[in-house]
Amino acid sequence: MIQLTNVSKRYENGVVALNDINLRIEQGEFAYLVGPSGSGKSTLMKILYREEIQTQGKVVVGKYHLNRLKPKDVPMLRRQVGVIFQDFKLLPSLTAYENVAYAMEVTGKSRKEIKKRVKEVMELVGLRTKVNQYPNELSGGEQQRVSIARAIVNHPRILVADEPTGNLDPENAIEIFRLLERINQNGTTVLMGTHNDHLVNEFKHRLIRLEKGNLVRDEYEGEYNEKH
Ligand code: ADP
Ligand code: ADP
Repeated sequence: MIQLTNVSKRYENGVVALNDINLRIEQGEFAYLVGPSGSGKSTLMKILYREEIQTQGKVVVGKYHLNRLKPKDVPMLRRQVGVIFQDFKLLPSLTAYENVAYAMEVTGKSRKEIKKRVKEVMELVGLRTKVNQYPNELSGGEQQRVSIARAIVNHPRILVADEPTGNLDPENAIEIFRLLERINQNGTTVLMGTHNDHLVNEFKHRLIRLEKGNLVRDEYEGEYNEKH
């Protein structure tokens, strides 16, 4: 469960990125987060995985009350919240396998457990045959699959996806989207920031819309008609 109560975020330079947001997303939901560029989508998602801290209001992510989160608890929070990005953010000097295993090594699991789980998630994302390739030897769609594998390897309850299809052609975009839906069907909450109106209109899910830091719309199975 994700719950924001009267959450605002004001950056150091005075920009108010979020203004008094109230939002509750239940465990297992799939929600799109839409809105024009600069409307606060990334900021909202960053708050959930503690890349930014709200300047006002209360945030609960699963069992974590972020207002009371200590720096030493941040790694635990991040195991509960997997994140994927538009630009993948893979480590270029590590193979696909190593990128995913690395995320698990910090949890102190044994080499054997890591090997088994990494194999399992690489299989799930359809990259079994490419585990030894480096990011620059993979297509964009494949790199995003590696980043999804990395995000889910520690069994997070929540997956935050910030414009995950933004760098992909329509065919790869849909495949990545389908993969996120599949992960959601296994019980993981998915919050997906996107500009992809085709996906949003074609595959109905809860639709949360921000404009200038305000939550202006929150509906189930909404139609998305934004011109940009
Ligand atoms: P979106 O993801 O919807 O494009 P963002 O959350 O990235 O929106 O940005 C919301 C607003 O906050 C924008 O006006 C942006 O310029 C501003 N902003 C984002 N990050 C920072 C930052 N680190 N410092 C100052 N302003 C920021
Ligand atoms: P797409 O058609 O999806 O954009 P690419 O044309 O980039 O994909 O790549 C097609 C296939 O070739 C992918 O499966 C990728 O793994 C492989 N590939 C691409 N570049 C390299 C490379 N430098 N070394 C090895 N394999 C590569």
